[in-house]
Amino acid sequence: MLKVRNLYAGYGHLEVVRGVSFHVALGEIVALVGANGAGKTTLLRTLAGLQPVWSGEVSLQGRDIRGMPAWRGILQGMTLVPEGRLVFADMSVMDNLMVGGYRNPDRRTDIAEMLALFPRLDERRQQQAGTLSGGEQQMLAIARALVGRPRLLLLDEPSMGLAPRIVSELFRLIHDLRRKDLTVLLVEQNAVAALQIADRAYVLETGAITLEGDANELRDHPEVRRAYLGQGTIGEES
Ligand code: ATP
Repeated sequence: MLKVRNLYAGYGHLEVVRGVSFHVALGEIVALVGANGAGKTTLLRTLAGLQPVWSGEVSLQGRDIRGMPAWRGILQGMTLVPEGRLVFADMSVMDNLMVGGYRNPDRRTDIAEMLALFPRLDERRQQQAGTLSGGEQQMLAIARALVGRPRLLLLDEPSMGLAPRIVSELFRLIHDLRRKDLTVLLVEQNAVAALQIADRAYVLETGAITLEGDANELRDHPEVRRAYLGQGTIGEES
């Protein structure tokens, strides 16, 4: 579905993504975990066409998508759910979903399906999106993306700022999305939650991939346990 080779990207003179290579196969949930400032958001934004590719290769279903504007990426089936739940705050929940599905001729059916999947949104259909709780806004941001029927969903830190109970609920939903023929690239600082639902994972440190493997294996990896799963002191020399 997605193949990235030796990707470099950044801002001005600041190189943030440094020679990253990874892939996401059709139907997989792949997690990309890393600490603050590792370059996760920059990497996702570069894939989505919101930042320029400095060098390297990026292909979506075999097609070179370097330099492709974000709106065209959406037409190709790749949708980014950005960090910070950027919902349309002044619009109702329903109108946010209508916008998400504006190109989808079956959007009404798909919206009904989303409201069944996220009952909390259903109860709040006419509520202004900006007044929803953080968890509800995150659900809306994901539902709005799904109404556009993406094939590849790029999720940027969906757990950010959410209570642990809401994170579990949200991640269970993301896991269940697989049934909808969806491929997911999940970027997370919350390695515990991400590794629970992912098939495979990559660890990104200062812009480079330092570890990769089966999500279960990575969960047991001593370095991951020490740095990301709270079992040891972060930053401790090994
Ligand atoms: P977090 O988990 O804290 O969101 P991240 O892994 O997503 O972090 P990025 O947001 O990609 O990391 O940031 C990586 C580096 O790029 C940081 O040093 C950050 O200061 C820098 N950076 C991010 N956005 C910009 C920008 N618009 N201009 C200049 N530097 C930026």
